[in-house]
Amino acid sequence: MAQPAITVSDPWEMALEQFHRAARHVPLKKGIREFLAYPKRELTVNFPVKMDDGSVRIFTGYRVHHSTVLGPTKGGIRYHPDVTLNEVRALAMWMTWKCAIAGLPYGGAKGGVVCDPKQLSAGELERLTRRYATEISVFMGPESDIPAPDVGTNPQVMAWIMDTYSMHRGYSVPAVVTGKPVSVGGSVGREEATGLGCALVAREAARAVGLPLEGARVAVQGFGNVGSVAALTLQRMGAVVVAVSDSRGGVYHPRGLDPEALLRHKRAAGTVADFPDATHVSSTDILEVPCDILVPAALEGQITVENADRVRARLVIEGANGPTTPEADDRLRQRGVLVVPDVVANSGGVIVSYFEWVQDLQAFFWTEEEVRQRLERLLVRSFRDVWRTAQERGVDLRTAALVRAIERVADALYTRGIYP
Ligand code: NAD
Repeated sequence: MAQPAITVSDPWEMALEQFHRAARHVPLKKGIREFLAYPKRELTVNFPVKMDDGSVRIFTGYRVHHSTVLGPTKGGIRYHPDVTLNEVRALAMWMTWKCAIAGLPYGGAKGGVVCDPKQLSAGELERLTRRYATEISVFMGPESDIPAPDVGTNPQVMAWIMDTYSMHRGYSVPAVVTGKPVSVGGSVGREEATGLGCALVAREAARAVGLPLEGARVAVQGFGNVGSVAALTLQRMGAVVVAVSDSRGGVYHPRGLDPEALLRHKRAAGTVADFPDATHVSSTDILEVPCDILVPAALEGQITVENADRVRARLVIEGANGPTTPEADDRLRQRGVLVVPDVVANSGGVIVSYFEWVQDLQAFFWTEEEVRQRLERLLVRSFRDVWRTAQERGVDLRTAALVRAIERVADALYTRGIYP
């Protein structure tokens, strides 16, 4: 079916456009399509934080629940200066589809605070986190809404959220948040799960299109939690990492870079941009370097109608949420570039978050081997399900993934019925 030519820069418009494209392929009862398009509830909080210099600063934060049809809501918390309510809405909707595709008993949520965590001291970050956690505690709980890390947050931030919630209750509630350090009820394998999952999905996609992973050239935009682990894992699988970047720029070498050395350099220098003996590329140029597999693992809206025709990869594995605009999706498809959508490609994170929640609720912990095996089983099943749906319906992988997700959520909704 011909798709309308639209240019979208707002993540929420993007998420809605993707949803409506897929919803056309699912016979939904009247009103249900509209119901699934709206976030269920949204909370905006403005709260004060005592800064180290004695001043008080007001911060704005959000928590959005997109859907509670399949279960409690699940989704990360982002600390970034550009966080907006529309971005959080989009990320929450994508979480609904991501959980549904993986078969997890969750609806989608997301949260964010408008701040630059790099400009805050550890004390300021802790006070901001504890206050934000308190502000959103009306939304949060192990049976209602379970946050996790996203851009700008990490296991330590999750530990503060868990501790704050627990202090209010008077007893420890580890299952209220995932992505915690292992010492306070985190799961082994959670921190690397998203990047590892990306690599496993890249392997499945390469196999599906007949691209040998051995020697395949990989470029990764965003050398953070997701991107660095994806690069390391793909290299271990036999691929050659030719380019990586972060917010300050990137490097390219046609014969390959050493991801372990890049990681050490990033830890020491704070960026990969000045890594020696490689060509400097900007964080947007990296999307256009000669490669076979491109992993955008930074932020949304990176591959647009402006640069989609210059993407030289055969496979795009979306480590980030929403890196490709719908119009860019069309261009890539016309040029035979296969895009494995975020809701599949980066679902390893929420899958192991689910494992962490299950372990916390049972107070019974698994080995790393068990976590990895279960992750791989779920991811491979999801990828194959989406691949088969795309073949059967003659649609791209994103539409196929969303079709499966919408079908599952709608099925649960019809079975539950509309209250009252
Ligand atoms: P992170 O903060 O660890 O890393 C983000 C990286 O992107 C950093 O290296 C940063 O310097 C870089 N970056 C920022 N802007 C950039 C730009 N314009 N160009 C190039 N690089 C840029 O965050 P993360 O957890 O790795 O998340 C990255 C993406 O993956 C986000 O879209 C996030 O929503 C998504 N994601 C994360 C998880 C998870 O478990 N952490 C799960 C699913 C999806």
